[in-house]
Amino acid sequence: MKNIQELKEKLLNSKKVIITTHHKPDGDAIGSSLGLYHFLKNNYRHLKVVVVTPNDYAHFLQWLPGNDLVIDFEQKPEMTKQLVADADLIFCLDFNKLHRINKLGKEVGSSKAEKVLIDHHIEPDDFAKYKLSVVTASSTAELIYDFIKLLDANNKLSKDIATCLYVGIMTDTGSFRFDSVTPKVHEITADILRYNIAHDEIYNRVYNTFTENRLHFFGYCMQECLEYFPEYHTTLIAVDREALERYEISTGDTEGLVNYALAIEGTRFGALIVDRIVTIKMSFRSTCDFDVHEFAKKYFNGGGHQKAAGGNANTSLETEVRKFKELLPRVKDQIV
Ligand code: 5GP
Ligand code: MN
Repeated sequence: MKNIQELKEKLLNSKKVIITTHHKPDGDAIGSSLGLYHFLKNNYRHLKVVVVTPNDYAHFLQWLPGNDLVIDFEQKPEMTKQLVADADLIFCLDFNKLHRINKLGKEVGSSKAEKVLIDHHIEPDDFAKYKLSVVTASSTAELIYDFIKLLDANNKLSKDIATCLYVGIMTDTGSFRFDSVTPKVHEITADILRYNIAHDEIYNRVYNTFTENRLHFFGYCMQECLEYFPEYHTTLIAVDREALERYEISTGDTEGLVNYALAIEGTRFGALIVDRIVTIKMSFRSTCDFDVHEFAKKYFNGGGHQKAAGGNANTSLETEVRKFKELLPRVKDQIV
């Protein structure tokens, strides 16, 4: 971050700070937001800090320290608008374009507050005065750790900060297995573990908290919705709306499902298409050089990272599945 000195002064001279993150926040979004929240509360005691999300998020993330203080814009629109308008500084975490926070983007964009972007998505828009945008970072939580040390190399974490950052790093690295995991990620994690966090319990709280229905739903998806295309090294899981209703699937319940598409030997491109009520939502994962960020951007109104991206459409499941299958011969040569 070029203008870190200026930001340090801004933090000292500010009164009201907002931290916000992307639509349907995931573990990295909530972990980095609450990690930064605890750091600012501990170290800049004059600040009033509020975490605001564009909408709700998975039940398995609602235990993080500070969770009860998070404000959901969809639940409290007027209050959120006022908070955003009155802020001196707005931290934008784990997203790269204001439309990724839906209608909240308009409020953040028009607020007089200076913006700080801390993010690892490709091609960020230029809406922030202060930027820590590193596309090779494993997670935004990793960047929050860097940011804390950038403010002052002697800065320490606390158990709460460490817990939140661990959730962000663990979830965005698929529990330390993606190729974004570097020696530095393990070094940061080693430091985080020194704060006496219960990493085994954190894992259980995030991953082993399925309802019986949700696990039956995953079974249904494996049995009825999965298709392997060996000639394209591709596996698709296409989930109908009726299944979401039958198994009472709510926000966050499809998290992790796309990874099962990669489990079939030979698959290098995994896709999940879900017929949500408001939109058709896609998730794409690559284990090779195939750039799913470009694929999502070009064909499905989305983006993300080279190996993990998403998209959306307002048509029908059938239309999007047909389109996806028609695209496979076109991108075949890239899936190597
Ligand atoms: P997921 O498949 O887990 O929803 O998302 C994978 C990655 O792609 C995440 O980093 C997420 O932020 C990004 N992403 C997901 N959906 C969209 C989308 O509709 N538009 C953009 N620009 N990025 C997305
Ligand atoms: Mn992330």
